[in-house]
Amino acid sequence: MSTLASNPLAADTKLGPASPWGSSQKGCEPLNPPQTGEALAMIIITRPNATEDQIEHIVARIHGWGLRAEVSRGEMRVVIGVIGPEDKIREKPLGAFPGVESVTPVLKPYKLVSYEFRGMPSKIKIGNVVVGGKEVVLMAGPCSVENEDQIIAIAQSIGKAGAKILRGGAFKPRTSPYSFQGLGKAGLQLLAEARRETGLPIITEVMDTKDLELVGEYADCLQVGARNMQNFSLLREVGRTKLPVMLKRGMAASIKDLLMSAEYILSEGNFNVLLCERGIRTFETMTRNTLDLNAVPVLKAETHLPVVVDPTHGIGIRQFVPSMALAAVAAGADAIMIEVHNAPELAKSDGEQCLLPGEFADLVGRIRGVAEAIGREV
Ligand code: PEP
Ligand code: MN
Repeated sequence: MSTLASNPLAADTKLGPASPWGSSQKGCEPLNPPQTGEALAMIIITRPNATEDQIEHIVARIHGWGLRAEVSRGEMRVVIGVIGPEDKIREKPLGAFPGVESVTPVLKPYKLVSYEFRGMPSKIKIGNVVVGGKEVVLMAGPCSVENEDQIIAIAQSIGKAGAKILRGGAFKPRTSPYSFQGLGKAGLQLLAEARRETGLPIITEVMDTKDLELVGEYADCLQVGARNMQNFSLLREVGRTKLPVMLKRGMAASIKDLLMSAEYILSEGNFNVLLCERGIRTFETMTRNTLDLNAVPVLKAETHLPVVVDPTHGIGIRQFVPSMALAAVAAGADAIMIEVHNAPELAKSDGEQCLLPGEFADLVGRIRGVAEAIGREV
């Protein structure tokens, strides 16, 4: 088993999506997942004046002990996350190294996703777009890819309006087996064509491990949908790629459940994960779901991973999507995902909740206003 590269996040952001399987298949083997009850993460915080030699020495020693090290560089300090079997970590004198200021165990059940494991927010690169920085990134597109004219026209309009990432489902998880299930491979090819036409990177859903290789050839970011949030074999498989993964919260999942599911992906070596709040089921019947904006500040405090909000599925009614999108930005979302369709009455899925291109363009201007009011940009 190999260990993580010293800073896989930094390295991954340079790799881009050219080779979806990239180093996960070759140079950097998947990590063995920590065994339940045995894994411990320890956070080493270095002194502000710690030298590069001291940091390298600590990392080399950790690797020499057969433990994993994850290095995160802040402006003032370096945080080194150590993970491995509890008995092995506890006996090591981690505080004895020159340059170390403090050593603290991560006691939470989610370790690699916990904020303290990196000590700073993660920035995830999707194509050339960075999510998790100052910019609030807009992702938009239809629920389903339906045909060439539809996806190209929508991609062009949302790109012109300011969206940075194109969404669209080729494999659709539908409540009824008789509803449109998506175009499959043909849909992925149409998404690739829309990317060529517009330059927008694409995010699309993978529903099954058997489709992962195919979807991975086209997607710049994989979406794991709400219904699959606890499909642990799928989570492990996407964790073995180096592609960014947006994990949507299950409709009956707690915030902690979401974090634990993300931990599956990171524990396989893929740190390029975004979390998406998309509404949960409650007793309320006036809206499709209840968008839990509480989750946004809670997640921002609990994890270093960027937070995306999908107000479209969250409220499920076109008229109310813009208000919830604005509220999500105000709450601190790093990205907003919105369904847009140029002919909603003809849409094969979710026509009642998607915005028209003009409505989306209008919303972008208002989102910009809110983003600027809280010190961010669009
Ligand atoms: C979607 O994004 O179109 C979708 C099916 O989302 P969710 O998994 O949140 O229902
Ligand atoms: Mn949808």
